[in-house]
Amino acid sequence: MGPGPSDVSPRVLNAMARSTIGHLDPAFVSLMDETKALLQYAFQTANSLTLPVSAPGSAGMEACFVNLVEPGDKVIICSNGVFGKRMHENVIRCGGEAIIIESSWGEQTDADELEATLKGHPEVKAVAMVHAETSTGVRNDIEKLCHIAKQHNCLTIVDAVTSLGGIELYVDEWQIDAVYAGSQKCLSCIPGISPVSFSEHAVAAIRKRKYPVQSWFLDMNLIMGYWGEGKRAYHHTAPVNSIYALHESLLILTEEGLENAWTRHTRLHNKLVSGLEGLGLSMLVKAEARLPQLNTVCVLDGVDEAKVRTTLLNEFNLEVGAGLGDLAGKVWRIGLMGHGCSDRNVDYCLAALKTVLK
Ligand SMILES: *Cc1c(COP(=O)(O)O)cnc(C)c1O
Repeated sequence: MGPGPSDVSPRVLNAMARSTIGHLDPAFVSLMDETKALLQYAFQTANSLTLPVSAPGSAGMEACFVNLVEPGDKVIICSNGVFGKRMHENVIRCGGEAIIIESSWGEQTDADELEATLKGHPEVKAVAMVHAETSTGVRNDIEKLCHIAKQHNCLTIVDAVTSLGGIELYVDEWQIDAVYAGSQKCLSCIPGISPVSFSEHAVAAIRKRKYPVQSWFLDMNLIMGYWGEGKRAYHHTAPVNSIYALHESLLILTEEGLENAWTRHTRLHNKLVSGLEGLGLSMLVKAEARLPQLNTVCVLDGVDEAKVRTTLLNEFNLEVGAGLGDLAGKVWRIGLMGHGCSDRNVDYCLAALKTVLK
């Protein structure tokens, strides 16, 4: 019950154990087509450039930035945690110029501040934001932020690594141009693969670049030759068994239904929070900005937070996360992600914490 990787469903592990076939085998190509359709459902998009990058969420992030940001481009980053900082690093390495809207950790990005920043910088090309900030447990109102960015004709880049499958995400309706997600958070798949999706606007921006994409491996112009429509050409050897796993995790999500999965995360989050409050604990984030899948709990005064985590791990076989950066030593991060988001786990976690705190 940490911040990820989450518990992997046994169905996913079984799928992974199937024989490895060729990455251009017709049977594998059919599986790729199915995986793409399942991803379009999970993202709620009709984008044809929707595929899993063969590397972890950070590579999905990098794929969005290296394809869309050219030297000299200005990008606004809505930053309120670890992953906003990482976006900043990406923009710098692409030769872009980052304009940072910094909010304190535990708070949402303020939409009025984005509006004001855009008015002051009419030349901005893209606005980047994190939907579910796993380092703080904050849900940013990306529907509103994207709406504002589009009114100023900017491309929108969204980190949905922890949000996909856990909370509402409507890529097309919310006008998201580039989005990347993770396999090991609410999809409960193994780590190491990152679903991404690019809108027509994003594809047009990639096609009319002045400079080639600095990364050969993540250049979407080349990846489209393997994952795109029509005849497929070798680009790199796809992680075949990891795609089996991703496909299975997406099937599980589809069988449950996206809305049902979102509702389950919310219901169990509410149950966890009321249990924690019953133990005298309080949450870092105000109720309306909380992520159901990542709960940041304030450490009580006089409690050795590391000792609590070690005891939970050693004596209860239960992992919870530590605070990062500004929040180190101040919070625990309890994940309720995908397969791990169950009544059984919430009950177990509350009982274990009760014993350890006593
Ligand atoms: C986990 C996470 C990432 C990075 O994913 P990796 O698979 O660890 O590279 C990026 N953004 C957010 C919000 C995350 O929670």
